[in-house]
Amino acid sequence: MAIVTIVGRPNVGKSSLFNRLIGERRAIVDDVPGVTRDRLYGQVEWRGNSFYLVDTGGLLLRDEDPIMEGMKGQIVQAMEESDVILLSVDGREGLTWMDEDIAMVIRKSAPKPVIVVVNKLDDMKFDELVYEAYGLGFQDVVGISAIHARGIDDLLDRVCELL
Ligand code: GDP
Ligand code: MG
Repeated sequence: MAIVTIVGRPNVGKSSLFNRLIGERRAIVDDVPGVTRDRLYGQVEWRGNSFYLVDTGGLLLRDEDPIMEGMKGQIVQAMEESDVILLSVDGREGLTWMDEDIAMVIRKSAPKPVIVVVNKLDDMKFDELVYEAYGLGFQDVVGISAIHARGIDDLLDRVCELL
């Protein structure tokens, strides 16, 4: 089954997005063959497609490495294991050097489809904040609010197109 991995700097809402996409089906799959075990896995079903979703957040907390080293390792591993990468950013804070750095690491790795997920667009009045994220250099950019469940259907449609 295809693997979709959520990466991004701390606090952009990766785990919130994970929980939103998993929905009531909170079944955590802890024995996915062929991938690193030390992560949070879930299974998502959407319009006849299904895929494993990975939240990479847990690794950072357990990693003794400096924060960026830990994240880069995570991202490189995610690139190897995943069919689609969700690069999440905080649309309301805007891009930071960490987002740029993560995007650069992704670009330098083997090509995999990347969707930039611009989170925390809780209300229509924030929607124009999505455009800044095109600056990361990826074509696929989707604005969402993990907490308020905005843009989630469009995101899932797009993910499934790339599987
Ligand atoms: P992670 O570190 O990337 O996994 O981020 P978390 O999912 O733990 O969320 C970090 C913070 O951002 C928490 O306080 C969340 O409640 C908040 N957050 C996550 N998604 C949204 C959202 O869509 N809108 C708003 N306003 N806050 C959010
Ligand atoms: Mg997290």
